[in-house]
Amino acid sequence: MFEIVIGLEVHVQLNTKTKLFCSCPTSFNHKQNTNTCPTCLALPGALPVFNKEVLKKAVMFGTAIDATINRTSYFDRKSYFYPDSPSAYQITQLYTPIVEHGKLEIDFEDGSKKIIGINRAHIEADAGKNIHDGDISKVDLNRAGTPLLEIVSEPDMRSAEEAILYLKKLHSIVRYLDISDANMQEGSFRVDVNVSIRPKGDENLYTRVEIKNINSFRFIQRAIELEVARQKEAWEDGVYDQEIVQETRLFDQAKQETRSMRGKEEAADYRYFPEPDLLKAVVTDEMYVQATQIPELPDEKKERFVKDFGMNEYNASVITSTLEMAKFFEEMMDEGISAKNAVTWLTVELQGRLKGGMSVETSPVDAKKLGMLVKRIEDNTISGKAAKEVLDYLMENESGVDDAIDKLGLKQVSDTGAIEAIIDEILAANQDKVAEYKSGKDKLFGFFVGQTMKASKGSANPQAVNDILKAKLS
Ligand code: ADP
Ligand code: MG
Ligand code: ZN
Repeated sequence: MFEIVIGLEVHVQLNTKTKLFCSCPTSFNHKQNTNTCPTCLALPGALPVFNKEVLKKAVMFGTAIDATINRTSYFDRKSYFYPDSPSAYQITQLYTPIVEHGKLEIDFEDGSKKIIGINRAHIEADAGKNIHDGDISKVDLNRAGTPLLEIVSEPDMRSAEEAILYLKKLHSIVRYLDISDANMQEGSFRVDVNVSIRPKGDENLYTRVEIKNINSFRFIQRAIELEVARQKEAWEDGVYDQEIVQETRLFDQAKQETRSMRGKEEAADYRYFPEPDLLKAVVTDEMYVQATQIPELPDEKKERFVKDFGMNEYNASVITSTLEMAKFFEEMMDEGISAKNAVTWLTVELQGRLKGGMSVETSPVDAKKLGMLVKRIEDNTISGKAAKEVLDYLMENESGVDDAIDKLGLKQVSDTGAIEAIIDEILAANQDKVAEYKSGKDKLFGFFVGQTMKASKGSANPQAVNDILKAKLS
């Protein structure tokens, strides 16, 4: 029996207005090589000036993961040559990073929890981008010098599922803190996955393979599964030592395999040394006080939802997994509806209708409207089934909830006279079934209810239908 060992390195792009060591804007989608200056172009003589906002955001993150904050941290120079790095080195923090020894809790569907250690989080500068265009490659340096926080976990995860839960929690924390937009497609939340296996019970760490830059949770899950399968197979075939070497591999989505990118032999010698052009980074008392007052985090919000709304832990963790969803839910609850209904209508009905990259933030039906719709079910104005029709209508049409109910003629009939009239007709048209029912075929009750609801086009109040039918059939 094998055990899977996973450690994750995540590069989070911090959402400061300006770059790490110059005042160029960090904004996206500008003309290539326009957000640049002598510093981020690494022209001779240009010197870096540290952007303190970056330090503040790193301290916020350290606070959120219960870590040690090094009030004095240092920058180091990591040398490597690559076309998208004009200085031929990266400024990072190797020896004394700003954040060390943190932890994060993941929640499983069955309610159990696990703590994942975070070894360190350090500040570093991003590289530019190579753009491959047919036979030629171009370099865009707009991104060069953008601040990154690299967050390095302990090798504490034991399955692809745990890795994904960790990543989703981490993603949600940086979004709650508003220190990054964490957009995976745009590369502001980039994940490197380290994977190894070992015999169950063995505490040693075996050879790890690093899979680089996979840009969706689904692909990360798949890459881990494929890599684990490859390592297990090598072990079982007795060729583990030859085939599993410490190396960087790529995930090939089309071929559904991981493939060697560069091996240990080709690993660069980074020649790390303390960065001579920068002073130490000091967190002043003033900054420390400010940065450690962080907003409510997903776990705290979850506990509050459980207490305030009587939700179960799992629903609460689904709802608080993103800040947008949590805000939407809280606004729905302002209508004084039940949490259970709010969860269902938000996560099943509304989200099921959001297509083509639409999110709760851009949904045509906002929280107030959806809350109102649920309220109209709860006060018996409409049935749950009718509410689905109203929601369909609201997704396509600019309208208030009550107006839509009127327009669609879905107001539930609680007027017993009207329901009685429908029931009389149904019973008259089905006298054979009435006789069967009276002779003991109880199951037919459902048939009468169904027919009545159908004849009323779903508008009859189900409770009233039940009561009247019972009275008439007894
Ligand atoms: P490097 O800086 O060379 O990438 P680190 O020791 O910092 O190496 O480890 C990088 C990541 O790899 C960390 O997230 C760590 O938890 C993980 N890791 C280390 N050893 C293993 C292993 N044997 N199996 C899986 N993950 C590992
Ligand atoms: Mg690494
Ligand atoms: Zn610049």
